[in-house]
Amino acid sequence: MSEESPEVVLKKETKNSVPLIKIRNARKWFPIKAGLFSPVSAHVRAVDGVDLDIQRGETVGIVGESGCGKTTLGRLVMGLIPMTEGTIQFGGKDIGEINRKELRRRLQIVFQDPGGSMNPRMSVRSIIGEPLLVNGLADGAELTKNVAELLSIVGLQPNHMTRFPHEFSGGQKQRIALARALSLDPEFILLDEPTSALDVSVQAQVLNLLDSIQKERGLTFIFITHSLNVVNHISDRVAVMYLGKIVEIAETDDLFANPAHPYTHALLSAIPQPSLDETKKERIVLSGDVPSPANPPSGCSFHTRCPIAVAGKCDVDEPELQTIIGGHKVACHFPVEAGGSLPVLND
Ligand code: SF4
Repeated sequence: MSEESPEVVLKKETKNSVPLIKIRNARKWFPIKAGLFSPVSAHVRAVDGVDLDIQRGETVGIVGESGCGKTTLGRLVMGLIPMTEGTIQFGGKDIGEINRKELRRRLQIVFQDPGGSMNPRMSVRSIIGEPLLVNGLADGAELTKNVAELLSIVGLQPNHMTRFPHEFSGGQKQRIALARALSLDPEFILLDEPTSALDVSVQAQVLNLLDSIQKERGLTFIFITHSLNVVNHISDRVAVMYLGKIVEIAETDDLFANPAHPYTHALLSAIPQPSLDETKKERIVLSGDVPSPANPPSGCSFHTRCPIAVAGKCDVDEPELQTIIGGHKVACHFPVEAGGSLPVLND
């Protein structure tokens, strides 16, 4: 009998256990005021009722256009901004009840622009070693040894620790940011568009590195991106967001093979295809712009752009996120059947 990899064992062990992250009815509404002392005139509904469980050792990709609420959801999970409503638990405990220091140790974040989060006057040793020093976990020779180990984990050389951020490429800076995020041995890392500023070849290297580190350490990732190609490469499951809500969620292979929400169909049709691919599908161009999250449409918030919207139903009743099969859920009154397609409204 073949031996199972640690990743497979971890997933089997955690399948029925308490999720590492449990999000219930999370809302984040930002008030709109005409002036500092003016009354609140409306709210931007950045995140508007999200439920999501994330298992230990899992990578969940969150995709959607700019302004769909994915970054705000990530910040809520990190405890960086307060929620308007709802709960988020980490390891079975409300994140509001976990003290700041513990939260920062157990949950880390890697941003899109690694250079922006690094002090240009600090050496790589200081940048990566700072969390260890601040938390009283290492200093002096031990700190140097730990930084050297972290650098080799992310594919850099120990002698890089004496250099400064400007001496590195974008991909190398992202490796340094990852080494810093790993320094406190976290359980969870929020990856907020970590590869979108990188060249395609460097993107692949960073994604492969993240994949191997995640498997070796049993880490849990939320990977925020606007690129379905990227989530296809790295995620176990994908959640598609539109106007602050999850409109579809499924295991990655299932979502790509059997998308059910018209919005997911449109996103998938926008992925560039090899020109010789005979299965190439026509791109679905959505009509109109993304509505304002300060004034979302009635009923299904996608109905103003949906090619199959039904008047009197979609503009009136808000669809709930419902299970189609297994863990595949969709929020649509008329989900597209497996293997089905949408009418193409190209000019
Ligand atoms: Fe389109 Fe109606 Fe489904 Fe919304 S509920 S995605 S408008 S078909």
